[in-house]
Amino acid sequence: MNFVIKTAVAFIICIVYNIKYNDYWFVTVTPSLSIGGEIINPLLEKAKQELKLKNINLSHQRLKVLEYLTKNRCHPTVDHIFTDLLQDMPTLSKTTVYNTLKMLAETGLVNVIAIEDNETRYDIVTETHGHFKCESCGTIYDFSINIDLLASNDLDDFRIDDKNVYFKGVCKKCLENTI
Ligand SMILES: [Zn+2]
Ligand SMILES: [Zn+2]
Repeated sequence: MNFVIKTAVAFIICIVYNIKYNDYWFVTVTPSLSIGGEIINPLLEKAKQELKLKNINLSHQRLKVLEYLTKNRCHPTVDHIFTDLLQDMPTLSKTTVYNTLKMLAETGLVNVIAIEDNETRYDIVTETHGHFKCESCGTIYDFSINIDLLASNDLDDFRIDDKNVYFKGVCKKCLENTI
């Protein structure tokens, strides 16, 4: 497909997708769309365009890491990504996965989540949202919340660089399974 058309289509899908995403905040898998027989992953196309604007070229392995994040919106750890991708890419190293995530975080395409001290997870959704960690199955769910409305006069003279909302508990699925 012509690149310009493909980019325009991906851009429109991104807008539609973002609106839709706000209504379905618990969706953890990005829908892929087939246009003219070609599978288009809107989140991946959007990320690729942003990297292109910053003159960052991705190697095949790095592209696969980015693709994994857009397809698996479960806030994976380095180990999750490495173990899953290793099946198709035996030459992949954990360092490549780690360095790719570091680069994506530095360019603002990926958010680093540290709910637990000993576990870093990565999130392709960078719009502000809260995280709920299920202490039974370990899944981290996104939920919509206006973090900007959380304010305290106690911090009036402080500079705030990062705002996070973390909840912990037991998810609906696990609660249903214990009944
Ligand atoms: Zn659970
Ligand atoms: Zn998230």
